[in-house]
Amino acid sequence: MKIARIEAIPLRIPFTTGGPSGVGVWGAGQTVDSLIVSVTTDAGVVGWGEAFGFKTIPAIKVAIDTVLAPDCIGRDATQIGRLMLDLQKKFHVFGRSGALIYGLSAIDIALWDIAGRAANKPVYKLLGGSDASSLPAYASLTRYADPEFVAKNVTRALSSGYRHLKLHEIDVNCVRAAREAAGDDIEIMLDVNCPWSVREALDMTRKLRPFNLRWLEEPVWPPENYSGLARVRQEGGIPIAAGENASTAMDFQHLLEAKAVDFIQPSPAKMGGITELAKVFALANANNTTVKVHTFYDGPGLLAAVHASAAFGGPDAWVEWRYFDLEAQLYGEAIIPNKGAIAVPQAPGLGLEPSTDVIRKYRQA
Ligand SMILES: [Mg+2]
Repeated sequence: MKIARIEAIPLRIPFTTGGPSGVGVWGAGQTVDSLIVSVTTDAGVVGWGEAFGFKTIPAIKVAIDTVLAPDCIGRDATQIGRLMLDLQKKFHVFGRSGALIYGLSAIDIALWDIAGRAANKPVYKLLGGSDASSLPAYASLTRYADPEFVAKNVTRALSSGYRHLKLHEIDVNCVRAAREAAGDDIEIMLDVNCPWSVREALDMTRKLRPFNLRWLEEPVWPPENYSGLARVRQEGGIPIAAGENASTAMDFQHLLEAKAVDFIQPSPAKMGGITELAKVFALANANNTTVKVHTFYDGPGLLAAVHASAAFGGPDAWVEWRYFDLEAQLYGEAIIPNKGAIAVPQAPGLGLEPSTDVIRKYRQA
């Protein structure tokens, strides 16, 4: 079975978040951009993948259309690991993260979808299987930068059944508002997206310690300052999570060697797809570290995380759910967590079919 066609499809979908959401990297105005990728084989099997990207999606589409796809056409769709290694080696001089690896991630995920469809099994069964029919999902809130909106949306997420919440605030008052609204029994995580020096991060951990955070995510600039992160972990008194900006297995090995994290966060649509994600689960296991996948997206990249987490993760394999209210979902209601749990799809491949109506209505080119 050979790869016959690859199509990268940008989508732009309006959303609301129950308040201001001003990080400004998602898309134009109050919309979020995503890039889904279909791979079609000469046997007519179609698989779907997803590349991370938001505002940079035009660059990732070019990388797929002009560099990766021409090299994939005619290759054996069933030899995923070999193909990925070949392409990583061939194009390594153009960067070990960014557009090419994001694009490669999407193709890898689509090939796993194809493998499952061809074998008539859901991907998690190809990866080893699981008796988990659902996984805990945590609500990943956008940055509101306003204690009142934080409290309001924490309450809203709790009323939808979430028991684990992640904030993207950088202000202590916003974290206090969240803890006061949630009470003591809810797990709260704080993702600050790499703003601080090591010294600043340590100062902040002192202020944040009273709020009993499950983890502090990416406190240090730059994200690859693993020794600095390790110091914040050692001296800060709050568990540390990072990994969404690490790329391919070797980088995760470095993160673990540095003893920089309590929770490691590979992002399947960024770091190499299901093939690389499986390796990170093994590395994390050997280093006594818990994987909490990063999935600030809700297409095939999210499903890749669900299948890998079902197969390789334990009861603490929480899946990140972007707490956006999208005008339309690629997978309709089937993907939306129910009472804080996300279903592990049981149909072959990734197990859900993207809506052709949603693609037609929201595609950009
Ligand atoms: Mg993050």
